Amino acid sequence: MLGLMQDWPLLCHRIIDHAATYHAERPVVTRSVEGPIVTTTYARIRERALKVAQRLEKDGIKAGDRVATMAWNTWRHLETWYGILGIGAVYHTVNPRLFPDQIVWIVNHAEDRMMIADLTFVPLLEKIAGRLPTIERYVILTDAAHMPKTTLKNAVAYEDWIAEVDGDFAWKSFDENTAAGMCYTSGTTGEPKGVLYSHRSNVLHAFMAALPDSKGIKSRDVVLPVVPFFHANGWSLAFSTPMVGAALIMPGPKLDGASIYELLNTYKVTFTAAVPTVWLMLLQDLEKTGADLPYLERVVIGGSACPRAMTKTFQDKYGVEVIHAWGMTEMSPLGSLCTMKPEYAALTGEARLDVQMKQGHPPFGVEMKITDDAGKTLPWDGKTFGRLKVRGPAVAKAYFKLDQDILDDDGFFDTGDVATIDPYGYMQVTDRSKDVIKSGGEWISSIDLENLAVGHPKVAEAAVIGVHHPKWDERPLLVIVLKKGEQASKEDILGFMQGRIAKWWMPDDVVFVDEIPHTATGKIQKTVLRDRFRDYRLPTAEAAE
Ligand code: ADP
Repeated sequence: MLGLMQDWPLLCHRIIDHAATYHAERPVVTRSVEGPIVTTTYARIRERALKVAQRLEKDGIKAGDRVATMAWNTWRHLETWYGILGIGAVYHTVNPRLFPDQIVWIVNHAEDRMMIADLTFVPLLEKIAGRLPTIERYVILTDAAHMPKTTLKNAVAYEDWIAEVDGDFAWKSFDENTAAGMCYTSGTTGEPKGVLYSHRSNVLHAFMAALPDSKGIKSRDVVLPVVPFFHANGWSLAFSTPMVGAALIMPGPKLDGASIYELLNTYKVTFTAAVPTVWLMLLQDLEKTGADLPYLERVVIGGSACPRAMTKTFQDKYGVEVIHAWGMTEMSPLGSLCTMKPEYAALTGEARLDVQMKQGHPPFGVEMKITDDAGKTLPWDGKTFGRLKVRGPAVAKAYFKLDQDILDDDGFFDTGDVATIDPYGYMQVTDRSKDVIKSGGEWISSIDLENLAVGHPKVAEAAVIGVHHPKWDERPLLVIVLKKGEQASKEDILGFMQGRIAKWWMPDDVVFVDEIPHTATGKIQKTVLRDRFRDYRLPTAEAAE
């Protein structure tokens, strides 16, 4: 017997309808690419998104067609997402920080028909446009006054483009399983892989993301998504924020500490989210200026492990609660968030920080398990680590145009992470399976060592890689970037770590570098470091020979 409830497909554009109806005048503020701050509202965003939809149809874009966007977080970018979604086409966020060859590969693989891009990226696109045969037209997110002379095919300024229609248009309706958006994983191993979200998965994921023990956002919040929309589906902020009707503040192209601080303070932002490297810049800036964060209540930090020192500084010095989060492009992307269940709620000080180093527990809609290499489920004791596998309505079941089974017999997706799960269901990533250091058959977590090393007051950033060792196969090498103007020796750093980890986890050597390489999404590029230190001779190696 079927239920007798209405058929109301979970379509993404219903979110902007809701925001425009019930939170019509809520401000949406952007630091524009052109420079000035621009303020609009959800009602205006919807009106203009309808124009985008109408205009896309006029250009012959049809349901299922991919429309690329290469853009910062701005009100225009948001309008294009909803416009694309509203006719059943697919927004494809392209990460401009990728190498040009990777961008070419991705756009060709997705067969994008149109490219909607910020002014910032016109020079980059001009260089590669000759290799993007599927793109029929470039729409530049600006007005006539700022439109540059360009060789890009059929280029038009966004404001002129949407001015050609009257906005008398209605969204299309279709099955909720229709493709909605697309995002490629950055492909640190092998070719990038295309993840294809559906309307249903995005809407369900937005509900999950907004829940009290997830981001916990509400109409009284002022939300600043620093994480770019092109990183892993924008962490759902383009959906979950209008869904709850919170005010939205967007940083445009300026993600440096001073610019972010200015927005946090001027607009009394209560909630924000980004990867640790962004917060490193902000905290360094605050240290320099002596400013504080009187309005900010919560910050979600994820994408890479959030160092303990960062959580401590945010909480103890600035009174901002850190929510450590884990996820991946394939999960839309949220997988777990470290909010406090009653079992941990009373903890304070270091004990609370111990819990906050975990990536947290999943919201309803994400199931997790850890297994050994043979697929046997491992216990949730907070100690045993294994392959982390996930299942849910917003988790990928296949990659775009890749005929390859990516789920196990029970329908779980292997995340490629190694993790523990504790008795209360809190998951902790110990490593990427390919980054874990295998020392004499035992595993050492590079993340734990990095977290500890950045707790040293002179250390700005740390990376740990496994380096060949004649006796143990691999031993940890600690790579350090010191804070500007600071000096420290190997002994200082190792002395600081002594006693805080098992003896056999201690790095065999420390090297100081000016910079640690990052991927396009702010992760430490371990592959590059491993290449660079491939032939590195550990001092302990000689003794072993
Ligand atoms: P990419 O940045 O490669 O495009 P993702 O954002 O999808 O792709 O990366 C997902 C991976 O990032 C996870 O599988 C995990 O290894 C890592 N990651 C994400 N959040 C965290 C976290 N809080 N702690 C540790 N690792 C994390």
